[in-house]
Amino acid sequence: MSSGALEFDVVTVGCGIAGLSAAVSAQQAGARVGLLERAPKEERGGNTRYTESFWRMKSRDEVADDLEQQLAANAGGYLDPEIIRDADLPYSEWPQLLKGLGFTDPEVIATLAENAGPTLNWLSGFGVTFDFLANYFITESTSRMAPAGGGLALIEALAAHAESVPDDIQMFYRTTAQALILDAEGAVAGLRAVGADNRGTEFRAPSVVLASGGFQGNPEMLSKYLGPASQYIRPVARGGYYNRGEGIRMALEAGAAPCGDFGSFHAQPVDPRSGRHEPVVLNFPYGILVNNAGRRFTDEAPATVDASYEAITRDIMAQPKGIAYVLCDAGLDDVPNWQKSVRTDEAPMEAGDLDSLAAVLGVDGLMDTVHAYNAACPANGEFKALELDGLATHGLDPAKSNWARPLTRPPFRAWPVIAANCFTFGGVKIDGRARVVNLDGEAIPGLYAAGETAGLYYRTYTGSTSVMRGAVFGRIAGQDAAGLKR
Ligand SMILES: Cc1cc2nc3c(=O)[nH]c(=O)nc-3n(C[C@H](O)[C@H](O)[C@H](O)COP(=O)(O)OP(=O)(O)OC[C@H]3O[C@@H](n4cnc5c(N)ncnc54)[C@H](O)[C@@H]3O)c2cc1C
Repeated sequence: MSSGALEFDVVTVGCGIAGLSAAVSAQQAGARVGLLERAPKEERGGNTRYTESFWRMKSRDEVADDLEQQLAANAGGYLDPEIIRDADLPYSEWPQLLKGLGFTDPEVIATLAENAGPTLNWLSGFGVTFDFLANYFITESTSRMAPAGGGLALIEALAAHAESVPDDIQMFYRTTAQALILDAEGAVAGLRAVGADNRGTEFRAPSVVLASGGFQGNPEMLSKYLGPASQYIRPVARGGYYNRGEGIRMALEAGAAPCGDFGSFHAQPVDPRSGRHEPVVLNFPYGILVNNAGRRFTDEAPATVDASYEAITRDIMAQPKGIAYVLCDAGLDDVPNWQKSVRTDEAPMEAGDLDSLAAVLGVDGLMDTVHAYNAACPANGEFKALELDGLATHGLDPAKSNWARPLTRPPFRAWPVIAANCFTFGGVKIDGRARVVNLDGEAIPGLYAAGETAGLYYRTYTGSTSVMRGAVFGRIAGQDAAGLKR
């Protein structure tokens, strides 16, 4: 990157699904776009590059029946009904207090639900094919579609379009946005970035779309917002290391309202020994989870695995040193194709008897735990691996609510599991036009955010909605930002 100011109609930060959607939609609306990406070209695409990219859809045109309800149910803590009451009004009549409040905003959810189908079809126009593809959940609670080739196919298709119009979209790799430039009235006028050798350049534009992901790749912010236990977690894939929070930080410095749970993140259970991306271990509903002291600490099977694994992963993170072990006996092989739920490339630790396995793991107290668990398993009842079978323990604390069968049959296998950080929840608040709003609920002129940079989630992630929200709000941001062109 050379020094000196460069001028565009729209500057987009990030080459993931949100940034590329914004750049391409702005270009389609007639804008000249500068697209900044911290990574080298061969690693562009952040988290999006590594995801299979499931969308919570029931068809190409409609979101899954539970999408809005689940997002609302996960809207955060104990919301004040007096404050939230006005959210039923048309958005234009909302008090500013509400517009600037961080919570899962119904205006944003409704926009997401309404635009998911049209956005999926827009992406299909670039040659990507969506279908109901296989995933790693053995039991499921909703419907999901994904593009053939995953998120990488989305990146490649949108980037190919961008590269086909080099006069309209200019890509700047190894270029890291650092600070917004605001004019005297507080409107966006561009941003400052650095490239190789820490050389700076100004990118001037009347609108900037921040789509630089979350802060899962920034240990300082993780420690600040998530606390000391963050030392035991790591990004679930290489792309997450590129997301270091500058987009969120620079927007907050410009007065943006925070939104999304800054103290939380989308947690996935992975094998810490594996260097693969997303080495999940999701077979624990058919065994037990024990910590370093050999103790159980959670219900391994309260619901279908897709609906319960995140809460269970948070319980794993809360154990000493943030680690636990999934323990199964040969009964695991009664579960059809259980192997699809385990994506680590490391073999399980295995032994012919529990004593030996406890010695391999170096975990005391395992025998007592297994004996107590086995004694609490029901004597009768039919094991049904692919549905909630109600085989629950009796008189055990914590209980196991389904698939509870004694662990007695060798071989005994164990996998270590830690919490991995798929993406952070904390970001900035946007409105239905993807405009960043300030703490008083006013849109900051020229500033947009999409994808992980825009906070949406609290407590529990509503699964298979993050690529979708990146595409939907990226596309909206690009269209809206193009309207501000010089
Ligand atoms: C393995 C895996 C599986 C997943 N599975 C699913 C799934 O099935 N369904 C789903 O909905 N979600 C899934 N997710 C989450 C989802 O992929 C992401 O949340 C989503 O793709 C994020 O898109 P984004 O554009 O906001 O960010 P990203 O795709 O992470 O893109 C951000 C980009 O910004 C760049 N960048 C960062 N900082 C700067 C800066 N200062 N200047 C310039 N560039 C910068 C990064 O290099 C990166 O290219 C998964 C994630 C992973 C990793």
